[in-house]
Amino acid sequence: MSDWESVIGLEIHAQLATRSKIFSGASTAFGAEPNTQACAVDLGMPGVLPVLNREAVNMAIRFGVAIDAEIDHHSVFARKNYFYPDLPKGYQISQYELPIVGKGHVFISPSEGEHLEIGITRAHLEEDAGKSIHDLFPEQTGIDLNRAGTPLLEIVSEPDMRSAKQAVAYARKIHSLVRYLEICDGNMQEGSFRCDANVSVRRKGEQKLGTRAELKNINSFRFLERAINFEIERQINLNEDGASVVQETRLYDAERDETRSMRSKEEANDYRYFPDPDLLPVVITDADIARIRDALPELPEQKKQRYINDLGLSDYNAELLTANRETAAYFEDALGDAPDQCAQLANWILGDLAGALNRAGLEITAAPITPTMLAQLMQRISDNTISGKIAKEVFEAMWQGEGAADDIIEARGLKQITDSGAIEALIDAVIAANPGQVEQFRAGKEKVLGFFVGQVMKQSQGKANPGQVNQVLRDKLKP
Ligand code: ADP
Ligand code: MG
Repeated sequence: MSDWESVIGLEIHAQLATRSKIFSGASTAFGAEPNTQACAVDLGMPGVLPVLNREAVNMAIRFGVAIDAEIDHHSVFARKNYFYPDLPKGYQISQYELPIVGKGHVFISPSEGEHLEIGITRAHLEEDAGKSIHDLFPEQTGIDLNRAGTPLLEIVSEPDMRSAKQAVAYARKIHSLVRYLEICDGNMQEGSFRCDANVSVRRKGEQKLGTRAELKNINSFRFLERAINFEIERQINLNEDGASVVQETRLYDAERDETRSMRSKEEANDYRYFPDPDLLPVVITDADIARIRDALPELPEQKKQRYINDLGLSDYNAELLTANRETAAYFEDALGDAPDQCAQLANWILGDLAGALNRAGLEITAAPITPTMLAQLMQRISDNTISGKIAKEVFEAMWQGEGAADDIIEARGLKQITDSGAIEALIDAVIAANPGQVEQFRAGKEKVLGFFVGQVMKQSQGKANPGQVNQVLRDKLKP
């Protein structure tokens, strides 16, 4: 297996979050009754003309600027001809030779300390097709044309990825970026963000690319990783058996966790692209680009650098906190309430909070613990009201809806015991009850100190200040 290297390039379709369609005024809202949101233009009725949605162009430019790409000042829409029931015009309006967004790049870190630049070949505007519905009527296929004409940005990567993990990190990066830019809602279940993966393998050291298969029908990052891994293994096995990979489109079947041939290259369409005579070329000026660039929000990469440089966070934590807008916003909100608890906040958000959200299947925006509540908890640790260990209990109680940290600490009597008289009394009792261990300690067995700390903490129900306990114990145990 290790003689082989895998090569992956992704084509991502992001539905742009415009209110109306790319060439008509029909609504793009998801979930309406079938065929209530396709107008004469979307249906390709004779005598109607498409009119380009300016906002879709602006969104494509936003993306282009964010990936440092060349923006073409002159770009052209082309007709891509094929026949399918959910494509009423018999062609899809897309871009071919002159896309709006040219070569650009993003950076990914698939694992701690690993940084890679991934090239983006192009990103172009096109219209989505309708939907064929195969599971509603027995023996028949339903057609819902509501989606026809929804603007898509197709983002094509270079074949720069070498593992499923890298491909997922790249897809997540693009997902995060389009959401930061507010050009796509990123909903993979509803199909607003779709990934097709092109996968090939070659012998290590080989320069030439192997024959690729294109994987479709992948609707989560988890499935993306699985589909690619399955496909890599399938292709390596074929090669090792002396057979060859055929260029084809394969569907991922999540239930069986495998890919299946859908159509081979021989059956592939000849799209007969030509410039759409109904649409004028798109002209984009330097002023348009400058205006859009000036209005960009802080992007994940910039945010990450700021977290590292100004807040002193580790590269890895900064990457995780900025991976999506909502997490970064949560962190920044909490930091506003507890400005000197930066490192603690990062650890709790990425550790306890992320774990709890994961177990409950919740997004951070639905977390029962608000940023303000978490900030208060951090402050109670830092001002020694409670220990880190008790903080876990308070966190759990906040999660269960018992109120804010201070209320819980009060109600449950969790305040740390810092009164030295009280701590001394506890220690005296423990020492008196364990003469054997005292002797062992005095005979040089340092480890026994841990036993005493444990006993005192237990007697105090975890509320004694551990630092103080250690200090006083050492003093009292001295021979
Ligand atoms: P098409 O238009 O037929 O889909 P492209 O040449 O535009 O083909 O490539 C589509 C995607 O496939 C791109 O993301 C590209 O990086 C990737 N790709 C092309 N050749 C290979 C290969 N041999 N192995 C893996 N990925 C590839
Ligand atoms: Mg393709």
